[in-house]
Amino acid sequence: MAATEILKIDNVSRHYGEGDTRLEILRGTSFSLRKGEIVGLVAPSGTGKSTLLHLAGLLERPDDGDVLINGVSCGQLSDADRTSTRRTDIGFVYQFHHLLPEFSALENVMMPQMIAGLSRGEAAERAQQLLEYLRVGHRGQHRPAELSGGEQQRVAIARAVANAPLLLLADEPTGNLDPVTAHYVFEALEALVRQSGLAAMIATHNHELAARMDRRVTLSEGHVVEV
Ligand code: ADP
Ligand code: MG
Repeated sequence: MAATEILKIDNVSRHYGEGDTRLEILRGTSFSLRKGEIVGLVAPSGTGKSTLLHLAGLLERPDDGDVLINGVSCGQLSDADRTSTRRTDIGFVYQFHHLLPEFSALENVMMPQMIAGLSRGEAAERAQQLLEYLRVGHRGQHRPAELSGGEQQRVAIARAVANAPLLLLADEPTGNLDPVTAHYVFEALEALVRQSGLAAMIATHNHELAARMDRRVTLSEGHVVEV
């Protein structure tokens, strides 16, 4: 059972601020995500979707509780070990692409692979395959600023999965796109997730997209609840 639990949020609490400005965002909540499962996180702005994704992605630490990635407790890990887990096991897609502006699309997708130790040639080959799978293979030599919003997000998705992570976390990945572009980008993302069998948690305000996922959860009074 534990082996197929790719992400486990175990009794996690997180607050911001102190005193009068103290905000309790997560109040001892638990949640888990199994291999191959796509979960939609649909909740109003300000309820803590990004906070939850940042905790799951080891970008922040909880005040209390633990985050387990593929059965490994990350609470006591050093920053260096957390960074290494993040690089090998987790892919993250943001609402805004966050691609490196001075590098080409292809180079952006090669970068995490070269950091992980692949040669330039190996990284370029896989990057090109991923861009083609996401239907932006012809845009590899272009810099992010020369791409449309939909193309930028396809490249960002390719970069997130470049090192074949176990877990994909996406924070409103189509939030900046028009509805038609959002539909096609999400379709590409979904196909990639289904084909590679990774687990994904995707925050979205788009109910049509949420309806296509395996499960939907929301945030209510600091807890993750199934809807
Ligand atoms: P969502 O992604 O659902 O819009 P967030 O997780 O970004 O929600 O934020 C949840 C709440 O926590 C919001 O009220 C936000 O203003 C607050 N918040 C987020 N990050 C910080 C921070 N670093 N310091 C103080 N408050 C924060
Ligand atoms: Mg957010």
